[in-house]
Order: sequence, then structure tokens, then C-alpha cells
Amino acid sequence: MQIGDLIRRAGRQYGAAPALVDGERVVSFAEFDELTDRLGHALLARGLEPGDRVAVLLPNGIDGVVVYYALAKSGLVRVPLNARETPHELAFKIDDSQARAFVGTGQPPAPVEIVLTDIAGMIADAPAGPCDVRRDPDAPLRLAYTGGTTGTPKAVVLTTRSELAEVDNFLVDLLPNLRPDSVMLHAAPITHGSGAFFLPHLVKGAANVIVPKFSPAAFVEAAQKHRATTTFMVPTMIAMLLEDPALGDADLALERLCYGGAPIATTVLQRGIDVLGPVFTQLYGQAEAPLAITCLQPWEHTPSRLTSAGKPYTFVEVDIRSADGRSLGVDEVGEVLTRGPHTMDRYWRRPEATAETKEPDGWLHTGDIGRWDADGYLHLLDRRHDVIISGGFNVYPREVEDALLAHPAVVEAAVVGLPDEKWGERVTAAVVTRSAAEPEEIRAFCADRLAGFKRPKSVEIWSGLPTSPVGKSLRREVRDQMLAARAALAGARVNTEEDA
Ligand code: AMP
Repeated sequence: MQIGDLIRRAGRQYGAAPALVDGERVVSFAEFDELTDRLGHALLARGLEPGDRVAVLLPNGIDGVVVYYALAKSGLVRVPLNARETPHELAFKIDDSQARAFVGTGQPPAPVEIVLTDIAGMIADAPAGPCDVRRDPDAPLRLAYTGGTTGTPKAVVLTTRSELAEVDNFLVDLLPNLRPDSVMLHAAPITHGSGAFFLPHLVKGAANVIVPKFSPAAFVEAAQKHRATTTFMVPTMIAMLLEDPALGDADLALERLCYGGAPIATTVLQRGIDVLGPVFTQLYGQAEAPLAITCLQPWEHTPSRLTSAGKPYTFVEVDIRSADGRSLGVDEVGEVLTRGPHTMDRYWRRPEATAETKEPDGWLHTGDIGRWDADGYLHLLDRRHDVIISGGFNVYPREVEDALLAHPAVVEAAVVGLPDEKWGERVTAAVVTRSAAEPEEIRAFCADRLAGFKRPKSVEIWSGLPTSPVGKSLRREVRDQMLAARAALAGARVNTEEDA
């Protein structure tokens, strides 16, 4: 079975019912099938050939979805780009994926052979009729970039087989009650986690409603208007929603508020349940095993379980192993591994990284550290490496350190994430300078080099950084010292208040 088969069948079965809604624009199931067929033909008519990579940079909206599934039908490989990234970051991805074409509203950030900006025009000029390029189930369907844990962005190769398995995981465990009157509200970018909810809803005849840009008010308005039953948020969005007066006495129909992609503060989660009811569903996954390693169901959100990431999905294997590869039991701490048809095939053009991450028998090293509790729930303790997740986006400390080190006064830099209720983690830097420089000036310097979510929220000037015997900077030590200094400061405040 191909992805296009699912779209074609939904078109026949659900015809004129709304499949996609974005503001005033509504696309029916039959229209969605036709639009993706036409655009698929148009892409092939430009000289693209099955297997070619196509970079896509579009705002969150219907056109993006049409492009994604036109690529699926025409045998092309989707490379989604994120508008929040700098031209330099985007150019890297275009270059690394060897994209032959760029689809977007403006000029491509790097030279590409074919530039396509007029999606409506292409569709209007293209022939109708099925666009049905059959692809090997194990051939690339899309590339998803992850910085991994080494700081160098790598693309994860996802195939038709992995995409269909992901739909399966969702329908079996997360959304077993989807019906034609279910409604998915995409409040987060479709290029990221939210996109995984599109096909499961489509195949069950349910509408996908898109909010172009998340704000608590826009979310509440759309959720009420369309009677949304499902949504997906990263923890930062939940924290923002709960703070916002727009939530007030909103009349919502949510059955599942799925969240994940980063650790969530227990206080935020408990407040969410108090306000919105038992709708929270946690997903733990990663680019290499999209959104499906474990999940915590609404009825499992009991006070003692709020720190857990849940239990394995039905058709996903999970194991915790020691450094020497032994399967660990209850309360033993080790690395989380997972196996299942939804996991990545490989890293794109990175055979060594693939060999390090994926065992020949299919087990995937997640790089996350965790333990099982006595009831079979997974608890994630930390990441093996130091990726910072701020506002749901991954920040790779080394990349931020490189930007800091480009400043003429900076000689050493260490970047860590400190806990933050709103952002999950705040990017915080310690630097050693060779000449006088203000922290604010160093922060401003980074603005030209890094996307907003990667810029340090604060920069501290230290006289020296802790290093290992071989001279590598010890980020964890830096983080511990920062946390200790903050705890001491908080303690001093309490003492002063008690003295007064
Ligand atoms: P990414 O590949 O960008 O999706 O990032 C995946 C990483 O985010 C995982 O390896 C975890 O470290 C973290 N993560 C994802 N979901 C959760 C969750 N539910 N709880 C805690 N950490 C999570």
C-alpha cells in the first residue's frame, strides 16, 4: 500500500465532507485527492524524477499539506524546512539533502535547479487523473532533520513502511475512537509533531483544521468554532495556554490533548488536568522513531505517574540496556532502545552515524536515559548528551557555542539548558572573555547567527570554565554550578525574609 492509496480511498469514501480547513478556506476529501494528483503531475512535468529530494518552505497551512502529499503521490522525497531557521541553517539542509527543487513563497536559501513558487498556478495548469508513482516500501518518503546529539544536523530517512506504521500506532493506541465527526486542530507546525496526526484523521474521514500561527487566543477560538476533539502541543504551548485569559470559561470539546517532544513540568501538567480535564495524552518519541516509543494515556495521569512517559505502544518494542548491552529490570538506569517498523531506515548519507545508532537487528539507540518502574511505566531521566529543548525546539549547545566563539572577545563558551516553566529549558551560556565585553552585547551578536529559539536567554561571564583532564569543557559541571548558584541565591532570599 502507498500513501496515495489512502488519500484516494478517503476521497471516494468521504467525498464532499471537509478534509482540510484553514480560516475561510475549506478543501473536501475529493478535492484534496484531486489537488494532490494535479500537483503531483505538475512536479513531474518540471523534470523531477522519482527519488529526487524537494525542499519545502511554506507557512503552516493547506498549501503545505497539498505539497507534502503531492510529493508522496509522485514518488518524490519531501525535505521540510522550518521558517524559524536562519538562511545559513536552511542552506545547509538544502545542500546536505541534495535537493533538486525548492517549493516555497520566496527565493530558496541556497542554489537549487528548480524553483517553484506558484503552487496554485501549477495546479491550475496540470492534468487531472490519478498521479500514482509506486515506490518501494523501503525507499525514502521524507527526510526529517535532527541535530541528533552530536550537534551536526543529520537527516532521518523515513519510508512508506515507517509512515504507515506510524499511522497504525496512532490509530491503535492514541486515537482509537476516531470517527468522521472527529476534528484535529493543528495548533503546532505541521512540519513537526502535529503533522503526524494528519493521516490518521484523514483515513477516518475526520477534518484537519489548521491554525496558521499558534497563540492561546487563536487556539481557543478555533477549538470552539470547529468543536476540535484532538490537538497536539509541545509543553511550552500548554504552559502558555494555561496562563492566558483567553482560556477563561471556554467551551471546548477536546477528547485528547496530546503532548510531547520534550519533558513537561509536573506543575504545568497537573494544572492542565485541573483546568481541561482528563484529556492529556503524553507521547514520547524522537525524529528517529516518530512520536511513538511510549505513551501515557489520559486515565494513567494519576499523581504518582505524572513524571512518567508511559508504556510502550502496542506494536513498539522498548528495552532499557546497560552500557554493555544487558537488558535492565525495574529501577535500573540505562539507555532506552526501541524497535518497530515506524523507526527510521537510516540517517541520510551518514553510514557511521547509522551504525552507531541502529543495531543490525533493528534496535535503535535513543540516547535517552531512563528506568522502568514496577508497573511497567518508563521514566526518562536525562538525555545521554546535552541537547537543550526550548519551546519544543531542539537547541544543540555546540552550535550556540560556535556562534558565541565567533565574537572577538569570547575565548571559551559552554551552553546548557536550565529548567524554565515557560520554555521547558532556557538556553544559558557561560563565557570566558579576553577583553571587556557586556553580556548584552554578546547576546546581540548571536542574533545574526542563530534562530531566535537558539539564542542564549542569558550570558554569564566566568573567569574560567571547568574542563576534563583532556581539556574538554564540562557542560554538566557548568550547569550544576549555575543551578547551585541559583539555589544559594533563592536560599539567601528566604533567610533574609525570615530575618526581617
Ligand atoms: P526530536 O528528535 O527533536 O523529536 O527530540 C527527541 C527527544 O526529545 C527525545 O529523544 C527525548 O529526549 C525528548 N522527548 C521527546 N518526548 C518526550 C517526552 N514525552 N518526555 C520527555 N522527553 C521527551
